[in-house]
Amino acid sequence: MIALHGLDVKKIRRDFPVLGAKMNSKPLVYLDNAATSQKPLLVIDRMSEFYRSRYATVHRGVYAMSQIATWECDLVREKCRVFLNAAKSAEIIFVRGTTDAINLVAAGYGRKFLMPGDEIIISALEHHANLVPWQQVAVEKNLKLRVIPVDDKGELLFEEYRKLLNDRTKFVAVTHVSNALGTVNPVRAITDLAHAAGAAVLIDGAQAAPHMKVDVRAIGCDFYCFSGHKVYGPTGVGVLYGKLDRLETMDPYQFGGEMIESVTFEKTTFAKPPLKFEAGTPPIVEIVGLGAALEYVEALGLEKIEAYEQELLTEAAEKLSKVEGLTLIGTAPQKAAVISFVLGDIHPHDIGTVLDSEGIAIRTGHHCAQPVMRRFNVPATARASFSFYNTREEIAALVAGLEKVRKVFR
Ligand SMILES: *Cc1c(COP(=O)(O)O)cnc(C)c1O
Repeated sequence: MIALHGLDVKKIRRDFPVLGAKMNSKPLVYLDNAATSQKPLLVIDRMSEFYRSRYATVHRGVYAMSQIATWECDLVREKCRVFLNAAKSAEIIFVRGTTDAINLVAAGYGRKFLMPGDEIIISALEHHANLVPWQQVAVEKNLKLRVIPVDDKGELLFEEYRKLLNDRTKFVAVTHVSNALGTVNPVRAITDLAHAAGAAVLIDGAQAAPHMKVDVRAIGCDFYCFSGHKVYGPTGVGVLYGKLDRLETMDPYQFGGEMIESVTFEKTTFAKPPLKFEAGTPPIVEIVGLGAALEYVEALGLEKIEAYEQELLTEAAEKLSKVEGLTLIGTAPQKAAVISFVLGDIHPHDIGTVLDSEGIAIRTGHHCAQPVMRRFNVPATARASFSFYNTREEIAALVAGLEKVRKVFR
């Protein structure tokens, strides 16, 4: 029996219009939350209302509507500060998403401060977004990219990490939660060791922010980032947290309007953070939508969300492992509600196609983490990823769907 931990899931589901939809004439069972999450009415309505009655640009206007837009965006910045427990709202930079945030740090910090021979450490669990930007800086500046290995359960080998650290280590970039396997990494211990070695730390929080309470000051990291669209907000907006002293010394990433203090043909002086990193007109309405999304999850309570999703994970892992021929990929003791699996030698794409005909949306492929697939000797996996709006009935539907897959491909 799943305790609901004070979450009224039936009521919550009514907040998400799309969850009542059908897919291939079957009730939609949406289990691709690690790729992107559905949106509650609060987000949809707040954005629509903003476009209908208050839409205007920020910063530039002296007229009332522009001032309101500016004020709303400032309010969301403060909300993001509270959401991450950052010290100052100037440490919150609006970006397009996690990918954009990491590119900003790789360019603004990596290119400026990392020198030939320096080393960057990432982990074997990284999404391509926290691998490729570092690889590019490494090629450009002749740095060494080193990788923390994982064990057969998908857990980072912490002792190996300790051995990789040395006085050439200048940057550590690790994911908080693996999108492919669900592993939760010990980010505080990772940060402490990196700092002891004199390295700066970025934590990719794309899979953590929607599912657990994040406290950047407790972690101690220099940078933390997440995407709006995975935390029930819109696409096109995300957050980069950076410690103010880091942000002050970094170079801007993009140049143009909004990020300047004064401009002549000879010389430009840049604005202070956060504006220094926000060139151009920001995604105003998306920022407003992100604010609504954070309000929504905070009203439910991230502790309650985490506890309920952990129960879904336990139940799903138990039921799925009873499906004949099914192998779970990623069985770390600390996991978020992400289940990757293979089913005999049936190609994950075929699993996804049969499930689709049953109205069940899962992800199949390499999940933007090809090195993870290689580590586990699979070309791809099927992945079911859960949210607080998922139910045990949906887990049962997934299991029934997989039994059908087995029949089709017997
Ligand atoms: C989704 C994801 C990203 C990339 O996020 P975008 O929103 O596509 O920029 C990076 N890291 C992890 C762990 C992710 O899950």
